[in-house]
Amino acid sequence: MANELDVIIIGAGPGGIFCAYELMEKRPDLKVLMIEKGRSIEKRNCPKRVTKTCAGCKPCSITTGFAGAGAFSDGKLSLSPDVGGTLPEILGYDEATRLIHESDEIYLKFGADTSVYGVDKEAELREIRRKAINANLKLVECPIRHLGTEEGYKIYSRLQEHILSKGVTIEFNTMVKDIIVENGVATGVVTDKGETFLAKEIVSAVGREGADWFKDKCEEIGIETKPGTVDVGVRVEVRDEVMQFLNENLYEAKLIYHTPTFDDKVRTFCTNPSGEVATEYYEGGLAVVNGHAYKGKEFKTNNTNFALLVSKNFTKPFKTPIEYGKKIAELSNMLCGGKILVQTYGDFKRGRRTTEERLCRNNLIPTLKDAVPGDLSLVFPHRIMVDLDEMIQALDKVTPGIASDETLLYGVEVKFYSNKVIVNKDFETSIKGLRAIGDGAGVTRGLQQASANGLSVARSIISSMK
Ligand SMILES: Cc1cc2nc3c(=O)[nH]c(=O)nc-3n(C[C@H](O)[C@H](O)[C@H](O)COP(=O)(O)OP(=O)(O)OC[C@H]3O[C@@H](n4cnc5c(N)ncnc54)[C@H](O)[C@@H]3O)c2cc1C
Repeated sequence: MANELDVIIIGAGPGGIFCAYELMEKRPDLKVLMIEKGRSIEKRNCPKRVTKTCAGCKPCSITTGFAGAGAFSDGKLSLSPDVGGTLPEILGYDEATRLIHESDEIYLKFGADTSVYGVDKEAELREIRRKAINANLKLVECPIRHLGTEEGYKIYSRLQEHILSKGVTIEFNTMVKDIIVENGVATGVVTDKGETFLAKEIVSAVGREGADWFKDKCEEIGIETKPGTVDVGVRVEVRDEVMQFLNENLYEAKLIYHTPTFDDKVRTFCTNPSGEVATEYYEGGLAVVNGHAYKGKEFKTNNTNFALLVSKNFTKPFKTPIEYGKKIAELSNMLCGGKILVQTYGDFKRGRRTTEERLCRNNLIPTLKDAVPGDLSLVFPHRIMVDLDEMIQALDKVTPGIASDETLLYGVEVKFYSNKVIVNKDFETSIKGLRAIGDGAGVTRGLQQASANGLSVARSIISSMK
């Protein structure tokens, strides 16, 4: 039968790519098919990068297509298993460390910058750690390799070429609609074009973009899941000078706080020195905020942006954290005509809306040009507002200037990795023949662990074939 394969990989993000790469390295004889709802990498083009205004393309070229959410990401590779996912919990710390190292070697082989931030700066690290302790913040130490948006794109382009040259078939612009399950075993998939593909091994690597779809499939075919966390908050933008010491010595300062009032966990995430704040669109046109930084000097701005995320864990009977995060983002979209809301910290703490006029005379110029001045207190529950405020004040002790009136807060940043699929160390779900990896399975939440997860699942598939 023409459509019979050895392995089907749903989604061509870093998880899917590294899985296909490893399968071809170890078993070049295998028939591997990747099905990707977006475009091939050379056809991924976001008009907003030129016009600064989102054209609402379907599918969105920022989150779908070869390299998934990684293609236009800032490409910061977190080289510590403490960051970016749950591989250490699933595979053990040593194995996760090994896999991160191996996937890093592959990025280097395909052209990644050899410099690593956050190492060899013991004196500066001690200074930052001392200030963090003084502010009751935990500093997570994690070396970072920065690909940069445009270099990352080139690396993934080379990976696409490599995988295709090794014989992997990739069906672009094709969405998997259904997973075929016969007698409790997954045997194939059906696409939105009505085609059926069969394989003994199916890997779901659908990322955050496909998390909703996969959650529905889990319910439909009985894949066991557990309620996860939802991370919701804002993207903060300040002048580079405010973050200079942290940026130069760590590139990304990962700081965690347990807030005094509610004891909620708030963390910094995804810092982009001299970067830009960006809008990311999800299914249904939901606009959420993100950020990135180009490697080339000509694209650099004077501002640093990073996310502040409040982690919420829910207990019974609540079991839809993704919807919770979306509802908050929808509120913000509703107030801003589908755009991202921006408020100065001065207005945030005084409890008043930022107006066009006040934003115009703010010292700090927003890099997200179509953000709409507004009031975050009309969007976030009181508890999240308090958490964010307390975190900003704590951060100000580590890097003074963060709690300045001019600081910009963009909402809403939300991370949809909350549908945690129950998997074993071979990433098998409760349905035989179906494995789940990456951000869409709630296993990872970053490029490096998603890539490492791809390598790992490929090895599990190969061992099960022996
Ligand atoms: C703007 C932005 C910046 C980021 N910056 C960083 C960073 O600097 N460092 C970092 O570590 N992480 C970053 N991330 C996160 C990182 O990109 C993700 O963690 C990583 O890409 C996850 O890999 P994945 O393979 O699990 O999923 P994804 O990369 O999301 O890929 C999943 C793929 O599956 C496809 N898909 C989904 N459903 C289906 C379906 N039903 N049928 C067919 N195809 C489907 C999607 O189109 C997508 O291409 C960023 C993300 C964004 C959006």
